[in-house]
Amino acid sequence: MSYEKQSVLYVDDETANLQLMRQILEKDYKLSFAPNGQKALEVAEKVKPDIILLDVLMPNMDGHETCRRLKEKPCTTEIPIIFVTIMDEEEDETKGFSLGAVDYITKPFVPAIIKARLNTHLLLKRKIDLLESMVSLDGLTEIPNRRRFDEMLESEWHRAQRITAPVSLVLIDIDYFKKYNDNYGHAIGDACLIKVAQAIHCALKRPSDFAARYGGEEFVVILPGTETTGAVAIAEHIRKTIESLEIPHEKSDTSSYVSLSLGVATMTPKQDIMPLELIKAADKSLYQAKEKGRNQWYCEQMHA
Ligand code: GH3
Ligand code: MG
Ligand code: MG
Repeated sequence: MSYEKQSVLYVDDETANLQLMRQILEKDYKLSFAPNGQKALEVAEKVKPDIILLDVLMPNMDGHETCRRLKEKPCTTEIPIIFVTIMDEEEDETKGFSLGAVDYITKPFVPAIIKARLNTHLLLKRKIDLLESMVSLDGLTEIPNRRRFDEMLESEWHRAQRITAPVSLVLIDIDYFKKYNDNYGHAIGDACLIKVAQAIHCALKRPSDFAARYGGEEFVVILPGTETTGAVAIAEHIRKTIESLEIPHEKSDTSSYVSLSLGVATMTPKQDIMPLELIKAADKSLYQAKEKGRNQWYCEQMHA
């Protein structure tokens, strides 16, 4: 099996070391470099490398402090770190591990050993990434699953609580999908679910917007920092996107193509309100969209 090259960030303030490391690693990995701790934090956040090789003795922010800060940030905390340093005392190494490093290599480094250790950690990283994608992606549609949605809503809810911002939810259900399955068969039903899921996923514009398969023929979208008016505009955009796919559905009572009903709800989280309340509100709206004839969005709050 061939894999894409994995990415390595090497952090060292000495140009000679950077050049040497380039010779050793350039062929097998996607390499990026940072000459100091501050730059390392920036590159790590931007590139999301598979692993970081981190020098300890550097001016201003040393490797220990850089490691601490990388571990503090949610977006870089999972990146494995290997210290590469001349500090070869037992207590130096112990300190490195206590800061969360996965390995410790002393300088002057031996190319074959650097590569062997890197490969061990990178193989592990590849397997962890694979497992993580398997538990958070839906097997059929390859968009995030219910489990990932629950995690995402929880974290967006807390963020919104901290900054007093709204969170909108759009609950989406395919119209007369049982009839679709009965008419075209389960395999074509599956293919339809994949098309709809991918189209919903791609219809979102902001990086913070999030779509998941909620279960069966239901999908859900989280729109952080979005008020009701913005959320209903996105619901309508999703409805139109699916309509324009023109997937034939001859047994539908509402359209000759596959269509969606969408329930929209918005809340600004407070201490005593749980994310489940937002789901319930979107579900109520979805029920209304179905009641009013399907192939449309509904937002209970706009009629309150
Ligand atoms: P409504 O317009 O009221 O939503 O009607 P509906 O028929 O879409 O709703 P209902 O909940 O009665 O039926 C949902 C159907 O979705 C039934 C089920 O067989 C189908 N379904 C759920 N998951 C899958 C799946 O993974 N693959 C396929 N092919 N069908 C699925
Ligand atoms: Mg349903
Ligand atoms: Mg349905």
